[in-house]
Amino acid sequence: MKKFVSRSLILLLLSVMFAPFQLAAEPAPASTTATTEIPLSPQLNPELSGQESPSSSTALPSHSTLRPPTEIVRIAIIIDDLGYNLRRGVEVARLPGALTLAVLPHSPNGIALAELGHQQGKLIMLHTPMSNLQQLPLDAGGLTDQMTQQEFVDTLYSGLDSIPHIQGVNNHMGSYLTQLPEPMSWLMDTLAREQLFFVDSRTSPDSIAWETARDLALPTQKRDIFLDNERTAEAIGTQFDQLLRIAKRRGNAIAIGHPYPETVAFLTEVLPGLAELGVELVPVTQLIPKPALSSKPVLLEGKNSALQHRTRALNK
Ligand SMILES: [Zn+2]
Repeated sequence: MKKFVSRSLILLLLSVMFAPFQLAAEPAPASTTATTEIPLSPQLNPELSGQESPSSSTALPSHSTLRPPTEIVRIAIIIDDLGYNLRRGVEVARLPGALTLAVLPHSPNGIALAELGHQQGKLIMLHTPMSNLQQLPLDAGGLTDQMTQQEFVDTLYSGLDSIPHIQGVNNHMGSYLTQLPEPMSWLMDTLAREQLFFVDSRTSPDSIAWETARDLALPTQKRDIFLDNERTAEAIGTQFDQLLRIAKRRGNAIAIGHPYPETVAFLTEVLPGLAELGVELVPVTQLIPKPALSSKPVLLEGKNSALQHRTRALNK
């Protein structure tokens, strides 16, 4: 573990010294490969997908000009699949720093973990199950292509109401549903009405979720990296290096991880050292451009008051 953490930190230092002098956002890289999803509950399972092609973690940027070491880049880390395993969820909620926690709807420990996470200063999202190409069964609150619009919206609202402190949503599984225009427009319409944001987990390279959200002027962003599709310290270290590399290049980057012991151990070790290296861990809302009439992107506040404005007018 030490070895990989050290490697990440050394890489980061080198990047700070040698990276090009730029902070501006580039378009998020298109995510890559197809998905293999495995059933979730009551075990915790990731969407095994979108694995970014790992590249050497020792290579320096070839186009090197000096960057002031004071420049800060920002990363967000969403931990998915929370709500079923209490002990692991508590470990995640107590990790240091501004992690974002994504809790499964109607999960037996979802309320307790969302409350604990909120208490610990974590941003809380709903991790909504959606139908997948493997036709694996969905957990409670799952959205499918078989639902009428009314069933779909009712199920979504029921999930949103089942967990406190929800400020946004990302998809659990969803490699099939996120390719379908109609359910995606129902989803984003509802989230827009509730002033919630959406993060596309990118469990399929053909997902149109992000584009649909953007077209409806919903605050939205895409996942860049899955941290722990492979549950070893070495693989997680490699993915974390890749996250930092994207952040250095683009100014920010978003990762998704899961409450595995290996992931928790890695984050426990690496998170406290980020600040002194010029990397800031922020709630994912701070990396979501707020749709605005002006051409200049405005970033959302870390803690917005969206829920205060939520209404349930449509479908009760
Ligand atoms: Zn998930």
